[in-house]
Amino acid sequence: MFERFRPDEVAPGLKDLNLEKLQKKRLKGIICDIDNTLLPWDHDVPDQETREWIEQAKNLGIQVVLLSNALPRRANSLSEQLDIPARAQAVKPRRKGFKKALEEMGLEPGEVAVVGDQIFTDVWGGNRMGMYTILVSPLAEKEFFSTKILRCLEIKVKKKLGLSG
Ligand SMILES: [Mg+2]
Repeated sequence: MFERFRPDEVAPGLKDLNLEKLQKKRLKGIICDIDNTLLPWDHDVPDQETREWIEQAKNLGIQVVLLSNALPRRANSLSEQLDIPARAQAVKPRRKGFKKALEEMGLEPGEVAVVGDQIFTDVWGGNRMGMYTILVSPLAEKEFFSTKILRCLEIKVKKKLGLSG
């Protein structure tokens, strides 16, 4: 029952993902979480390295769409700053938001990677869609209370999957 939570790949952070390697896996799109994946939840402006990573994806022809469970204001601001589409209030792990992102990119689930810091929203959601899932370590220690509760469960699931280190 824990296999549904298993990511295809684990990485320290978004910027550690080798885009050319993803391209070799025939991945043409990335659905990227915002909070604690793209930037810490209490930051509003992505750092230079993150901007360069997004630019590199664009140059390689890899589409990036932001998909967040948070409110639209933040997603819209980042969408403008990075000049990529963003969807807020996605209710991950539900499929609807992922499907909308796919439509936006004009890609099939097998051509898309999901990158996020949470097993129960990003990884589970991506796995349900049959997408390539990548779990990254969360960027900020301080988090919302609801996220903290999920983190405790996450640690247990990670142990079951042999992912804790
Ligand atoms: Mg997140």
